[in-house]
Order: sequence, then structure tokens, then C-alpha cells
Amino acid sequence: MTSAALHVRGIVLPDDEQRDLWIVDGRITTEPVREAETVADGWVLPGLVDAHCHIGVDANGPVDRDVQEQQARTERDAGVLLARDCGVPSDTRWIDDRADLPRIVRAGQHVARSKRYIRNYGVEVEPEQLVDTVADQARRGDGWVKIVGDWIDRDLGDLGPCWPDDVLAAAVARAHELGARVTTHVFGEAALPGLLAAGVDCLEHGTGLADDQIAAMAESGTALVPTLINIATFPDIAAQASRFPTYAEHMLALHDRVDRMVATSYDAGVPIYAGTDAGGSLAHGLIAQEVQALHRAGLSATDALAAASWRARTWLGHPASLDEGAQADFVVLTADPRADLTALAHPARVVLRGRVVS
Ligand SMILES: [Zn+2]
Repeated sequence: MTSAALHVRGIVLPDDEQRDLWIVDGRITTEPVREAETVADGWVLPGLVDAHCHIGVDANGPVDRDVQEQQARTERDAGVLLARDCGVPSDTRWIDDRADLPRIVRAGQHVARSKRYIRNYGVEVEPEQLVDTVADQARRGDGWVKIVGDWIDRDLGDLGPCWPDDVLAAAVARAHELGARVTTHVFGEAALPGLLAAGVDCLEHGTGLADDQIAAMAESGTALVPTLINIATFPDIAAQASRFPTYAEHMLALHDRVDRMVATSYDAGVPIYAGTDAGGSLAHGLIAQEVQALHRAGLSATDALAAASWRARTWLGHPASLDEGAQADFVVLTADPRADLTALAHPARVVLRGRVVS
């Protein structure tokens, strides 16, 4: 398929170089193309990444294709051209055939303990089924599996681990044998030793992390996706949990120290990526807000951008720079986002697979 060549001029990040790029058949070239249409001039970033979102679900469970499409378009229009889907109970494979919708790296469906997660979301199983269920989801996903590591234990009235440590270790080993990375939902402290000992590849939220665990993550290269704009809703969750006062207080305490946890992780060298957790209660299209929250927590503006663009793309196995031959997935901003991160919230142009889509 051929399409009219496009031309973009600007400061290209992360190299910070003034460049002219031409786009032919969905790919970048630095060879000038005559009669190419100039579509933008500004700051050019590799397509944004939402490293934790859910396309295909709303607060009540799975959604139909029309809603899935709307969610995907909302992410795209915010500049998100690559999403790591952290678990959905619906089949969104059809999106892969749509050139106008973002690329998705899927983690299958959440693997959760029976009655210990949001209703209608997960495959809910008991520990003896965990290894086989993780293997099933590894085959369904795009190289990732999502395990719910802790959730409220209503008998305890507080957050508690969902799995025995040995079962968790066996499940993570099985996923790795099948070539899948494992990420885990974890809010509290108690589940963390088992998750880290099992060798998970990424923690979602990670609000309960202690300094020594952060140091161990930096050492092993275990990633952290703090989902700060989701953690900002913890006071609301606590306010609705009056039947479980210990849990409510715990959620407030985790909320209060999350920025410090992120700053400590950043200083220690833990790989941090930007994820919004859109899809359940949060709206799609908020990646710029998450980047700003990461910056407020202590990441430099450039590292906060990297967490939602080039560095996250590399982590997910996609090209991180707009070099000769790279896929033409990028956003163009009218101001330097390193000087003002709010510029990220309103991309002047979004180009996906070489076509202007927004
Ligand atoms: Zn999530």
C-alpha cells in the first residue's frame, strides 16, 4: 500500500536534535521526499505508551466493540500509540487489524483468587489452579500475564496476600518457561516478599514497598508502574470502606507515602513506567496527567517523559527512536515538554503507522 508522503520538522526526542523526517509507507526516512506534505513543526516524540490500562472493560465488566473502539480512540487521541493492557475479560484482538487504532501488548485476563477481586474482571481460581491458569493466560496474551497479588481479605478486614509463596513461585516459573513476563497487582506490604521472591517482572502500584525491597528491585531490574493517578483515588476507596476500618486506614497510609516510595525507587534506579490504570473507574486518555504526577513525585521531566515514551517502548519491545526505517508512530507538540509537561496533554499531531490520525 502506498500513501502520500508526509514531512515533519522539529526537535526530535530523546536525541534533542533538530531534524526533518519524511514518512513513506508507514516508515521514517531521513531521505528528502519531493512534494511531501508538511504536517507539523514542533517537538517530536516517539508514540506515547500507557503502560497500564484496560481497553475492553468498564467499572462493571466487559464492554462491547463500540465501547472498546471508543476507549482505544481516546487513548490514541491523547498520543498513546502503544498500550500495555493489564488484563481484560473481553477479546480485543480485532483491534490489531485496525491501522487507525493503537498497538496493544496484552496480558490476557487478570488471574485472581476466588472472590478476591473486582467482580466480572478476572479468571478467579484457587491456589491449586494457579499454575495452569497462568499458563493459559500466557498463551492468550502478548508476552505478559497479570496476577492479582493482594486484595482485601474480608475475614481479616485488611489487605492480604492472595497466594501461598510456593504456588506463586511455581506460577511465575511456568510463565517464564512459556516466554511470558509476569506483572502483579499489589497495594499492601504483606504480599511483597512472596512476589519478589517469585521473580515477578513488574509490580503495578507497589504502594507498600519498603526501601530494602526497592533496592532489590533496582538490582534485579524489576519494573514499577505506580499508576499515581489511580493511587490518588485511595482516599475515596477508604471513604467507601467504613465496614472495614483497618483496611480504610491502611489505604490512606499507603496513599500518603506513595510519592516518597516513587522518589526512593527513582533514586535507586528502579525502571519506572507511566500507566494510568484507565478502564475500571478511571477514564482513558489521561497519560499526560500520569506523567505530570511522576514528575511531581520526583522524576525529572525528561525521565517522566521517557517513562511514557521511548523507555517504555523499548521495555515493551517496540522501537524507541525515530531513526531511518523505524515505524512512524509519533506525536508532535507545539512546546518543549521538558520545559512544560502540560504541553503533552494536547498533541498538535498524532501520527500512527505513518498516517495522521489526530
Ligand atoms: Zn489495572
